Amino acid sequence: MIVENLIARMVRKASSRYFAFEDGRPQPPCAPAEPIHLYIHIPFCAELCPYCSFHRVPYREERAREYFRALKREIDMYRDRGFSFSGVYVGGGTPTILLDELLDLLARVQRDFSPSEVSVETNPDRLDARTLELLADAGVKRVSVGIQTFSDPLLKSIGRYDKYGSSEVLKERLAKAKGFVQTLNADMIYNFPTQSRAMLEQDLEALKEASPDQITFYPLMISDATRKKMTDLMGRVNYRKERLFYSLITSHLAQDYRASSAWCFSKKDTSMIDEYVVVSQEYVGAGSGAFGLVGGGIYANTFSLPAYCERIFRGEFPLSARRLFSVRELSRYAFLMGLFGLSMDSAPFRKRFGSPPWWLLGPELLFFLLTGGIRIEQGRIMLTPRGRYYWVVMMREFFTGVDNFRDLSREAAGITAR
Ligand code: SF4
Repeated sequence: MIVENLIARMVRKASSRYFAFEDGRPQPPCAPAEPIHLYIHIPFCAELCPYCSFHRVPYREERAREYFRALKREIDMYRDRGFSFSGVYVGGGTPTILLDELLDLLARVQRDFSPSEVSVETNPDRLDARTLELLADAGVKRVSVGIQTFSDPLLKSIGRYDKYGSSEVLKERLAKAKGFVQTLNADMIYNFPTQSRAMLEQDLEALKEASPDQITFYPLMISDATRKKMTDLMGRVNYRKERLFYSLITSHLAQDYRASSAWCFSKKDTSMIDEYVVVSQEYVGAGSGAFGLVGGGIYANTFSLPAYCERIFRGEFPLSARRLFSVRELSRYAFLMGLFGLSMDSAPFRKRFGSPPWWLLGPELLFFLLTGGIRIEQGRIMLTPRGRYYWVVMMREFFTGVDNFRDLSREAAGITAR
């Protein structure tokens, strides 16, 4: 674990620099020449899960309807500024919590941008045939459902058993949800402190039976603020176990699935829609607490829902933070995300940054070559099987950095963790 611990420390340090935002209210970015991705955040959940570090608040219909009104206006503001979107990802929270509003939002997005890909996250209680048909009719190609685990004791301890059903119920709902959209993705979490090897094997067996098109297996990621709550609830996270479980997952899924990122696995011989952070170099974030990466800078919207709505209804962009990156920082981000998608070509990198990867990423490439994490063939940098786990560690630490920033921003917006 020496290399993994070193990598984790390096990424943690780099992330805290990446999320050291500039002071002052930022101006909105200029529209790029080409269409980019749009991330839309719906922060409402029926109940809040204890391990979750996302920006989410308890659902209240009136508040959610006002929020959707603001969201539509924010997307119009980007359209009027010249932005165009080729792909849309709706995440949360629970995006399907107020379906009529979501469908109206998606209809407007289709009318204005005709994106080739639309992905929507949901929870297992929204996997009924009618909802899936409506989503498919609205142009949704990928539905990602938060299953997390099929172990009843674990579901009970993370508060999802009563909300979304037992292992048997989840398996049945997932199996029946296939075929409505191009890609049905099951989001899973592994390495809960009380999760045993037998529990993980049960998850893998259940997935084999339900056989979704795609499986995303995240390691448990907890921000500094939720760490204490999780430790009290389930104990400390063991990263040695994470590595062992990751190798069990990859070997078990290899029979029916191919890796499409370090932690996403898609059915073999089929065309799937992948995570937007892998496929899109730039994206706009719409909604409270959403992030965007545009024109060499990262932007964050305000985390306060009242401030978000107020500013939009005044005709202002709801941006609250920005950080412009240097070319070296941007190239490191491109390296992280590119190899998270398993490989990166030197030619497009050179075209984008004006220098070859060796010039901008010499120390990183040397480090991962020496530690056996990457190999380079004919100008293509590829992850080795060992490197895939290194990237899991890096992405875990990167997203923990995002979560820490969210926690601070939510605290500043007067939102308490629950
Ligand atoms: S895990 Fe999903 S359902 Fe639970 S609080 Fe977080 S966003 Fe909401």
